Order: sequence, then C-alpha cells, then structure tokens
Amino acid sequence: MNEFDNQITDSGLYSLQIDTLQLNLGAYCNQECNHCHISASPHRTELMSWHIMQSTLDVLEKIDCKLIDLTGGAPELNPNFRRFVSALHKAGHNIQERTNLTALLEPAMQDMPEFLKKHQVALTASLPCYLETNVNAQRGSGVYAKSITALKKLNALGYGTDPELPLNLVYNPGGAQLPAEQSKLEADYRRELSERFGITFSHLLTIANMPIGRFKTVLYRKNETESYGQRLKKSFNPKTIDKLMCRYQISIGWDGSLYDCDFNLALGMPVNHGAPDHIKRFDYTALAKRKIVTGNHCFGCTAGCGSSCAGVLVTVT
Ligand code: SF4
Ligand code: SF4
Repeated sequence: MNEFDNQITDSGLYSLQIDTLQLNLGAYCNQECNHCHISASPHRTELMSWHIMQSTLDVLEKIDCKLIDLTGGAPELNPNFRRFVSALHKAGHNIQERTNLTALLEPAMQDMPEFLKKHQVALTASLPCYLETNVNAQRGSGVYAKSITALKKLNALGYGTDPELPLNLVYNPGGAQLPAEQSKLEADYRRELSERFGITFSHLLTIANMPIGRFKTVLYRKNETESYGQRLKKSFNPKTIDKLMCRYQISIGWDGSLYDCDFNLALGMPVNHGAPDHIKRFDYTALAKRKIVTGNHCFGCTAGCGSSCAGVLVTVT
C-alpha cells in the first residue's frame, strides 16, 4: 500500500461508475510546454491508429457514456481526428476536445474551427494566464499571441458565446504552487481578456501541476521536488475523495491500453487489480467497479479544492 492509499482508506480507491471515456490520441504536439505531464512535443511520434478508434466506437455501441473527451498531445493533429469525430458525432455522442489553441493555426488546420462547430465539439483550451509573459514562459515564445488569435476566431464562430458551443479555458500555476481560487481567477480572466481583446469564454478550470512528466523535470532542476510533494500532501482535502475523476471515467491510451486517468497513462500505470487493461477486452461491469491504481502523484488531485480535467472538485478546503 502506498502513502496515498494509507491516507484515504484501509482498502484503497474504487471506481463508482463510468460517465466519461477520455481518449489520448497521441503524444505528438506542436508545442513543448514545461508543465506537460505527457511530455508531449513535436518529436513524439505516438499516435492513436484508426484501428483503436474503431475498437472504441464498437465499445461505445454497447455502453451508455455521457462524454467522449479527446486529449493528447494535440488531438486535432492526429491524422484520423476528423474521421473519428465525424463517426462519434454520427453516433450521437457528446464530444469534447482539449485544444492547445495554437494547433488550430497549423497548416491544414485553417478550417478546423468550422469542423469542430459543425460536429458540436465542446472545447477546453489551455491558457495558463491572461498575461503574455507568463504564457510564453510556460508554453514557448509566441504562444500567447497565437492563442489569442485562435480564441478570437473561435469567438467569431460562436464558441464561448453560444451556450451550445462551450469554450472553457484552463489555468495551471506557473510553478510549484497550488492554483489560486477558481471563481476569483475566472473573474480576473473574464475582465482582462474582455478589456484587452474583447474575448469571451464559458468557464475557467484551474488544474494543479502534477509532479510527473516534464513538470517533474522542472521541479528537479529547481530543487523543488521534495517541497512541492510535501505541499501537496499537507494540503490533502478528504472532501475531494468522492469526486476524483478516476472514479467516473476510463482513459484510453493511443495504443488502446486502459488507464484510470491520463496521469497514470503518462506514468505507464495501466488499470490493474484484475480489471481488463485493453480496449479490445473492454468489460463495463468489471471496469465500473475496478480498484484504482494510485501513487503519490495522486496527492496532486486531492490538494486544496482538488483538481481534475474539469477543474476543482470542491469549493471548500
Ligand atoms: S501541455 Fe498541451 S500543448 Fe503543451 S506540450 Fe503538453 S499536450 Fe502540448
Ligand atoms: S492521479 Fe488523480 S485521477 Fe489519477 S488515479 Fe490518482 S487520484 Fe485518480
């Protein structure tokens, strides 16, 4: 039993139901951000094949799933992205894509915003600050300006203004701190982006930096590994346990392997404890009551108000 399991319960953490399938379409990305838990970059070649996407579509015919959440890397840069989204839309699924915004400006992506709108894909977009210096420091030179250009293009299509076209923004801290209060930060984002650029969005989601992937390397270089780990542990909030995203979803890796979450995917820790671990062997009943694979990185999800791909888990610490 690891330190996290010791903290939460005598018997470990269990899934409650599966509302969401999150698919990681690959580690290829046009950016190389220093907070990336997947360590995605233009040099990574892993991409989900059509074969695995088709297996997922086959599974979806047999189960009831509220949301299909597409992540990466840059999901829209997977060559099968449009075919997959079209098939999901045709089958009537609610689709969400996690976009880094700048991918929408890449060659051959010029009509991607219109494609996303046509297929009613909800968007969750990374913008870790409303200030240019901070975004470029985390995500690379020129990323802020491109992100603003993409946001304006999305707003012009109705994203962030039409309730049918959600455009959520994602904040994560610039370093080894916990995120600021989500509702307060959302008000700051709303004011600043509106005044500077006339940009509107649906909601802001704050997500803690996980001490894995490229952010782990940053912590190591700054000699902050120990202090950040302690900060997460000391900020443990038991009220987050019932809401942890791994209890309501399954994550599918680019090779079809199944994980409790995208963080476990990044760490190469597939589902275990007897649960089927590949999309080809998907068994809803077994997976919906599986024991979750945990580690000390899980303290990143339980610190303060908690953290998930949908933002904070609770409003009280
Ligand atoms: S954080 Fe997002 S945009 Fe940045 S490298 Fe990772 S996947 Fe790409
Ligand atoms: S990292 Fe978070 S979401 Fe993943 S298994 Fe741990 S607690 Fe659950």
